[in-house]
Amino acid sequence: MQATSTPVIEFDNVSKSYRSKVALTGVSFRVPGGSIFGCVGPNGAGKTTMVRLILGLLSPDTGTVKVFGSNAVDLSVLDRRRIGCVLESTGIYNNLTVRQNIEFFARLYGTDGLSDKISIGLSDLDMEEYENQPAGRLSKGMKQQLAMRRAMLHHPEILVLDEPAAGLDPIHQKETRDLLDHYRQEGHAIFLCSHDMSQVERLCDMVLFLKEGNCLAVASASDLPKRQGADTWIVRAVSRESMRTLLTKLDGRYRVNGSKDSNQIELSIPAHEEAEFLGFLSSEAGLIREVRRVVPTFEETFFRLMEDR
Ligand code: ATP
Repeated sequence: MQATSTPVIEFDNVSKSYRSKVALTGVSFRVPGGSIFGCVGPNGAGKTTMVRLILGLLSPDTGTVKVFGSNAVDLSVLDRRRIGCVLESTGIYNNLTVRQNIEFFARLYGTDGLSDKISIGLSDLDMEEYENQPAGRLSKGMKQQLAMRRAMLHHPEILVLDEPAAGLDPIHQKETRDLLDHYRQEGHAIFLCSHDMSQVERLCDMVLFLKEGNCLAVASASDLPKRQGADTWIVRAVSRESMRTLLTKLDGRYRVNGSKDSNQIELSIPAHEEAEFLGFLSSEAGLIREVRRVVPTFEETFFRLMEDR
Protein backbone atom coordinates (compact mmCIF):
# COMPACT_ATOMS: atom_id res chain seq x y z
CA MET A 1 0.00 0.00 0.00
CA GLN A 2 1.23 3.53 -0.84
CA ALA A 3 1.84 6.25 1.73
CA THR A 4 -1.18 8.55 2.01
CA SER A 5 -0.77 12.32 1.72
CA THR A 6 -2.62 13.01 4.98
CA PRO A 7 -0.11 13.23 7.82
CA VAL A 8 -0.83 11.17 10.93
CA ILE A 9 1.96 12.94 12.88
CA GLU A 10 2.87 16.61 12.39
CA PHE A 11 5.55 18.64 14.16
CA ASP A 12 5.38 22.35 13.42
CA ASN A 13 8.30 24.43 14.68
CA VAL A 14 8.52 22.45 17.92
CA SER A 15 10.90 23.43 20.73
CA LYS A 16 11.26 21.71 24.08
CA SER A 17 13.58 22.28 27.04
CA TYR A 18 13.99 20.53 30.36
CA ARG A 19 14.62 23.54 32.63
CA SER A 20 17.74 25.12 31.11
CA LYS A 21 18.58 22.06 28.94
CA VAL A 22 17.38 22.55 25.36
CA ALA A 23 16.26 19.20 23.89
CA LEU A 24 14.59 20.33 20.63
CA THR A 25 14.75 23.58 18.65
CA GLY A 26 12.23 24.50 15.94
CA VAL A 27 11.69 21.00 14.57
CA SER A 28 9.12 20.52 11.78
CA PHE A 29 8.17 17.38 9.84
CA ARG A 30 5.18 15.29 8.75
CA VAL A 31 4.64 11.55 8.77
CA PRO A 32 2.10 10.33 6.19
CA GLY A 33 0.02 7.20 6.84
CA GLY A 34 1.45 4.01 5.31
CA SER A 35 5.07 5.14 5.63
CA ILE A 36 8.07 4.54 7.86
CA PHE A 37 9.65 7.74 9.18
CA GLY A 38 13.10 7.37 10.74
CA CYS A 39 14.81 9.62 13.23
CA VAL A 40 18.58 9.33 13.70
CA GLY A 41 21.08 11.28 15.75
CA PRO A 42 23.78 10.81 18.37
CA ASN A 43 23.05 10.23 22.06
CA GLY A 44 21.23 13.19 23.54
CA ALA A 45 20.08 14.50 20.13
CA GLY A 46 16.43 14.67 21.26
CA LYS A 47 14.93 11.47 19.78
CA THR A 48 13.25 10.21 22.94
CA THR A 49 11.92 13.70 23.60
CA MET A 50 10.19 13.52 20.19
CA VAL A 51 8.72 10.14 21.09
CA ARG A 52 7.40 11.51 24.40
CA LEU A 53 5.85 14.46 22.56
CA ILE A 54 4.13 12.14 20.04
CA LEU A 55 2.75 10.00 22.86
CA GLY A 56 1.44 13.14 24.60
CA LEU A 57 3.63 12.51 27.65
CA LEU A 58 5.17 15.98 27.24
CA SER A 59 3.85 19.27 25.83
CA PRO A 60 5.98 21.39 23.50
CA ASP A 61 7.19 24.75 24.88
CA THR A 62 6.48 26.35 21.51
CA GLY A 63 5.07 25.02 18.24
CA THR A 64 2.53 22.22 17.82
CA VAL A 65 2.63 18.43 17.85
CA LYS A 66 -0.41 16.92 16.16
CA VAL A 67 -1.40 13.27 15.98
CA PHE A 68 -4.39 12.30 13.81
CA GLY A 69 -4.93 16.05 13.33
CA SER A 70 -5.34 16.88 17.07
CA ASN A 71 -2.86 18.18 19.62
CA ALA A 72 -1.03 15.09 20.95
CA VAL A 73 -1.57 16.02 24.61
CA ASP A 74 -5.35 16.39 24.06
CA LEU A 75 -5.87 13.09 22.24
CA SER A 76 -8.98 11.16 23.31
CA VAL A 77 -8.66 7.72 24.91
CA LEU A 78 -10.07 6.18 21.73
CA ASP A 79 -7.48 7.94 19.58
CA ARG A 80 -4.71 6.93 21.97
CA ARG A 81 -5.67 3.31 21.28
CA ARG A 82 -4.79 3.93 17.64
CA ILE A 83 -1.13 4.23 18.71
CA GLY A 84 1.20 1.41 19.73
CA CYS A 85 4.70 1.83 21.10
CA VAL A 86 7.84 -0.03 22.08
CA LEU A 87 10.15 2.10 24.17
CA GLU A 88 13.72 1.50 25.30
CA SER A 89 12.57 -0.83 28.05
CA THR A 90 10.38 -3.47 26.39
CA GLY A 91 7.51 -3.28 28.92
CA ILE A 92 7.37 -7.08 28.99
CA TYR A 93 6.63 -8.65 32.38
CA ASN A 94 9.43 -11.12 33.07
CA ASN A 95 7.52 -13.08 35.70
CA LEU A 96 4.51 -13.67 33.46
CA THR A 97 4.64 -16.41 30.85
CA VAL A 98 4.72 -15.50 27.16
CA ARG A 99 1.00 -16.42 26.89
CA GLN A 100 0.13 -14.36 30.00
CA ASN A 101 1.99 -11.35 28.57
CA ILE A 102 0.02 -11.53 25.32
CA GLU A 103 -3.20 -12.23 27.24
CA PHE A 104 -2.63 -9.24 29.49
CA PHE A 105 -2.07 -6.79 26.64
CA ALA A 106 -4.85 -8.28 24.47
CA ARG A 107 -7.26 -7.70 27.39
CA LEU A 108 -5.93 -4.17 27.82
CA TYR A 109 -6.73 -3.39 24.20
CA GLY A 110 -10.26 -4.87 24.38
CA THR A 111 -11.54 -8.38 24.76
CA ASP A 112 -13.09 -8.82 21.30
CA GLY A 113 -11.66 -12.00 19.79
CA LEU A 114 -9.29 -12.37 22.72
CA SER A 115 -8.45 -16.03 22.15
CA ASP A 116 -7.87 -15.34 18.45
CA LYS A 117 -5.55 -12.45 19.26
CA ILE A 118 -3.58 -14.62 21.66
CA SER A 119 -3.20 -17.52 19.21
CA ILE A 120 -2.28 -15.16 16.36
CA GLY A 121 0.24 -13.41 18.61
CA LEU A 122 1.85 -16.70 19.57
CA SER A 123 1.87 -18.33 16.14
CA ASP A 124 3.16 -15.17 14.40
CA LEU A 125 6.05 -15.22 16.78
CA ASP A 126 6.74 -18.93 16.31
CA MET A 127 6.50 -18.97 20.07
CA GLU A 128 3.97 -21.72 20.71
CA GLU A 129 6.68 -23.85 22.28
CA TYR A 130 7.58 -21.05 24.69
CA GLU A 131 4.07 -20.00 25.59
CA ASN A 132 4.17 -21.37 29.13
CA GLN A 133 7.70 -20.17 29.90
CA PRO A 134 8.32 -17.00 31.92
CA ALA A 135 9.12 -14.19 29.46
CA GLY A 136 12.21 -13.40 31.55
CA ARG A 137 13.79 -16.59 30.19
CA LEU A 138 13.48 -15.53 26.55
CA SER A 139 16.55 -14.33 24.71
CA LYS A 140 16.89 -10.57 24.20
CA GLY A 141 15.88 -10.92 20.55
CA MET A 142 12.75 -12.95 21.32
CA LYS A 143 11.76 -10.56 24.08
CA GLN A 144 12.10 -7.67 21.66
CA GLN A 145 9.95 -9.52 19.10
CA LEU A 146 7.38 -10.23 21.80
CA ALA A 147 7.32 -6.53 22.73
CA MET A 148 6.81 -5.60 19.09
CA ARG A 149 3.97 -8.10 18.68
CA ARG A 150 2.46 -6.89 21.91
CA ALA A 151 2.46 -3.33 20.55
CA MET A 152 0.82 -4.51 17.30
CA LEU A 153 -1.89 -6.72 18.86
CA HIS A 154 -4.57 -4.06 18.43
CA HIS A 155 -3.35 -3.07 14.92
CA PRO A 156 -2.52 0.54 15.82
CA GLU A 157 -2.44 2.98 12.91
CA ILE A 158 0.78 4.49 14.28
CA LEU A 159 3.57 2.41 15.74
CA VAL A 160 6.20 4.38 17.67
CA LEU A 161 9.50 2.56 18.19
CA ASP A 162 12.47 3.78 20.19
CA GLU A 163 15.48 1.59 19.35
CA PRO A 164 13.54 -1.60 18.55
CA ALA A 165 16.50 -3.57 17.18
CA ALA A 166 19.19 -2.51 19.70
CA GLY A 167 21.60 -5.38 20.30
CA LEU A 168 19.79 -7.89 18.07
CA ASP A 169 21.71 -10.41 15.99
CA PRO A 170 21.47 -10.17 12.17
CA ILE A 171 18.74 -12.84 12.00
CA HIS A 172 16.51 -11.05 14.49
CA GLN A 173 17.29 -7.71 12.81
CA LYS A 174 16.10 -9.13 9.51
CA GLU A 175 12.96 -10.54 11.17
CA THR A 176 12.25 -7.13 12.72
CA ARG A 177 12.77 -5.45 9.35
CA ASP A 178 10.41 -7.87 7.59
CA LEU A 179 7.81 -7.43 10.31
CA LEU A 180 7.90 -3.63 10.05
CA ASP A 181 7.94 -3.67 6.27
CA HIS A 182 4.85 -5.88 6.27
CA TYR A 183 3.16 -3.58 8.77
CA ARG A 184 3.79 -0.57 6.52
CA GLN A 185 2.40 -2.46 3.52
CA GLU A 186 -0.82 -2.92 5.45
CA GLY A 187 -1.10 0.90 5.49
CA HIS A 188 0.18 1.68 8.99
CA ALA A 189 2.63 4.47 9.85
CA ILE A 190 5.79 3.78 11.84
CA PHE A 191 7.93 6.36 13.66
CA LEU A 192 11.29 4.72 14.22
CA CYS A 193 14.18 6.07 16.31
CA SER A 194 17.35 4.10 15.81
CA HIS A 195 21.13 4.17 15.90
CA ASP A 196 21.23 1.37 13.33
CA MET A 197 22.05 3.14 10.06
CA SER A 198 21.61 0.09 7.88
CA GLN A 199 18.17 -0.67 9.37
CA VAL A 200 17.09 2.95 8.86
CA GLU A 201 18.44 3.10 5.31
CA ARG A 202 16.72 -0.12 4.29
CA LEU A 203 13.38 0.55 5.95
CA CYS A 204 12.58 4.23 6.08
CA ASP A 205 10.77 6.26 3.43
CA MET A 206 11.99 9.50 5.01
CA VAL A 207 14.69 10.15 7.61
CA LEU A 208 15.15 13.08 9.97
CA PHE A 209 18.72 13.82 11.08
CA LEU A 210 18.86 15.34 14.51
CA LYS A 211 21.84 16.87 16.33
CA GLU A 212 21.65 18.63 19.67
CA GLY A 213 17.94 19.22 19.17
CA ASN A 214 18.32 20.73 15.69
CA CYS A 215 16.91 19.15 12.56
CA LEU A 216 19.82 19.01 10.07
CA ALA A 217 17.88 17.41 7.23
CA VAL A 218 14.69 15.52 6.37
CA ALA A 219 15.12 13.46 3.24
CA SER A 220 14.63 10.03 1.74
CA ALA A 221 17.54 7.69 2.46
CA SER A 222 18.36 7.38 -1.25
CA ASP A 223 18.16 11.13 -1.96
CA LEU A 224 20.16 12.35 0.96
CA PRO A 225 23.69 11.30 -0.06
CA LYS A 226 23.23 13.00 -3.43
CA ARG A 227 21.98 16.23 -1.91
CA GLN A 228 24.35 16.80 0.97
CA GLY A 229 27.66 18.64 0.79
CA ALA A 230 30.51 17.98 -1.59
CA ASP A 231 30.63 14.90 -3.82
CA THR A 232 33.82 12.99 -4.36
CA TRP A 233 35.10 12.75 -7.94
CA ILE A 234 37.77 10.38 -9.25
CA VAL A 235 39.78 11.66 -12.20
CA ARG A 236 42.17 9.34 -14.05
CA ALA A 237 44.65 10.84 -16.48
CA VAL A 238 45.95 9.11 -19.61
CA SER A 239 49.45 9.00 -18.07
CA ARG A 240 51.51 10.16 -15.04
CA GLU A 241 52.86 12.99 -17.20
CA SER A 242 49.31 14.11 -18.11
CA MET A 243 48.36 14.01 -14.43
CA ARG A 244 51.29 16.27 -13.55
CA THR A 245 50.10 18.77 -16.19
CA LEU A 246 46.52 18.47 -14.95
CA LEU A 247 47.60 19.05 -11.34
CA THR A 248 49.37 22.31 -12.20
CA LYS A 249 46.14 23.53 -13.84
CA LEU A 250 43.98 22.29 -10.95
CA ASP A 251 46.25 23.81 -8.32
CA GLY A 252 44.36 26.13 -6.00
CA ARG A 253 41.09 25.77 -7.92
CA TYR A 254 39.80 22.52 -6.40
CA ARG A 255 40.58 20.46 -3.31
CA VAL A 256 42.55 17.30 -4.11
CA ASN A 257 42.25 14.62 -1.41
CA GLY A 258 45.13 12.26 -0.60
CA SER A 259 48.01 11.32 -2.86
CA LYS A 260 48.98 13.16 -6.05
CA ASP A 261 51.64 10.63 -7.02
CA SER A 262 49.77 8.36 -9.42
CA ASN A 263 47.77 8.97 -12.57
CA GLN A 264 44.56 9.02 -10.50
CA ILE A 265 43.34 11.66 -8.03
CA GLU A 266 40.32 12.18 -5.81
CA LEU A 267 38.65 15.60 -5.44
CA SER A 268 35.85 17.01 -3.28
CA ILE A 269 33.59 19.23 -5.37
CA PRO A 270 30.73 21.15 -3.72
CA ALA A 271 27.44 20.87 -5.63
CA HIS A 272 27.49 24.58 -6.57
CA GLU A 273 30.92 24.21 -8.25
CA GLU A 274 30.03 21.07 -10.18
CA ALA A 275 29.09 22.70 -13.50
CA GLU A 276 32.28 24.77 -13.57
CA PHE A 277 34.36 21.70 -12.64
CA LEU A 278 32.85 19.65 -15.47
CA GLY A 279 33.53 22.56 -17.85
CA PHE A 280 37.16 22.62 -16.71
CA LEU A 281 37.49 18.84 -17.26
CA SER A 282 36.04 19.00 -20.76
CA SER A 283 38.52 21.76 -21.66
CA GLU A 284 41.32 19.36 -20.59
CA ALA A 285 39.73 16.24 -22.13
CA GLY A 286 42.94 15.34 -23.99
CA LEU A 287 44.69 14.67 -20.65
CA ILE A 288 41.90 12.59 -19.11
CA ARG A 289 40.97 8.90 -19.47
CA GLU A 290 38.12 8.60 -16.95
CA VAL A 291 35.95 10.76 -14.66
CA ARG A 292 33.71 9.18 -12.04
CA ARG A 293 31.49 10.59 -9.30
CA VAL A 294 31.41 8.60 -6.03
CA VAL A 295 28.15 9.10 -4.18
CA PRO A 296 28.75 8.72 -0.42
CA THR A 297 26.87 5.98 1.39
CA PHE A 298 24.01 6.79 3.72
CA GLU A 299 26.26 6.16 6.72
CA GLU A 300 29.06 8.39 5.35
CA THR A 301 26.49 11.14 4.79
CA PHE A 302 25.31 10.77 8.38
CA PHE A 303 28.87 11.24 9.69
CA ARG A 304 29.46 14.16 7.32
CA LEU A 305 26.31 15.88 8.52
CA MET A 306 27.18 15.32 12.17
CA GLU A 307 30.74 16.60 11.73
CA ASP A 308 29.87 19.60 9.57
CA ARG A 309 27.51 21.44 11.87
P1 ATP B 1 19.77 8.70 23.37
O1 ATP B 1 20.10 8.31 21.97
O2 ATP B 1 20.95 8.73 24.27
O3 ATP B 1 18.60 7.94 23.96
P2 ATP B 1 18.08 10.96 22.68
O4 ATP B 1 18.39 11.40 21.31
O5 ATP B 1 16.88 10.08 22.86
O6 ATP B 1 19.34 10.28 23.35
P3 ATP B 1 16.82 12.69 24.64
O7 ATP B 1 16.66 11.60 25.65
O8 ATP B 1 15.59 13.18 23.97
O9 ATP B 1 17.92 12.30 23.55
O10 ATP B 1 17.53 13.91 25.38
C1 ATP B 1 17.76 15.16 24.73
C2 ATP B 1 18.48 16.07 25.72
O11 ATP B 1 17.62 16.39 26.80
C3 ATP B 1 19.73 15.44 26.33
O12 ATP B 1 20.69 16.44 26.49
C4 ATP B 1 19.25 14.94 27.69
O13 ATP B 1 20.30 14.96 28.62
C5 ATP B 1 18.18 15.98 28.04
N1 ATP B 1 17.11 15.38 28.85
C6 ATP B 1 16.30 14.36 28.50
N2 ATP B 1 15.41 14.10 29.47
C7 ATP B 1 15.66 14.99 30.46
C8 ATP B 1 15.08 15.25 31.74
N3 ATP B 1 14.05 14.54 32.19
N4 ATP B 1 15.62 16.24 32.49
C9 ATP B 1 16.66 16.99 32.03
N5 ATP B 1 17.26 16.80 30.84
C10 ATP B 1 16.76 15.81 30.05
